[in-house]
Amino acid sequence: MAKGRVSIVVERCKACGFCVEFCPTKVLALSSAFNSKGYHPPHVVAPEKCSGCDLCGMYCPDFAIYGQRVPVSKEANGAAAKVEVGRES
Ligand code: SF4
Ligand code: SF4
Repeated sequence: MAKGRVSIVVERCKACGFCVEFCPTKVLALSSAFNSKGYHPPHVVAPEKCSGCDLCGMYCPDFAIYGQRVPVSKEANGAAAKVEVGRES
């Protein structure tokens, strides 16, 4: 399961490629599509590898991308709680 999520504001992008280059887990690639300014924005090629570290956001000079950590799901919390109960009894 992904631990992070990346969001791209396509129209702000100027296709410098910093986000693609500096993402430690190679989540991104520049798209072959154009935005309205004629640039190729990044797109997500490996969403499951995103950690939400926001390195892409820190390197982007145009505030066109950011990463976020995704909270652990309720289902996962329930599983963890069951394990705890099992250990105590
Ligand atoms: S770093 Fe920002 S401007 Fe550069 S390609 Fe990525 S999203 Fe676009
Ligand atoms: S948040 Fe981190 S792991 Fe996710 S796309 Fe951005 S740099 Fe890559």
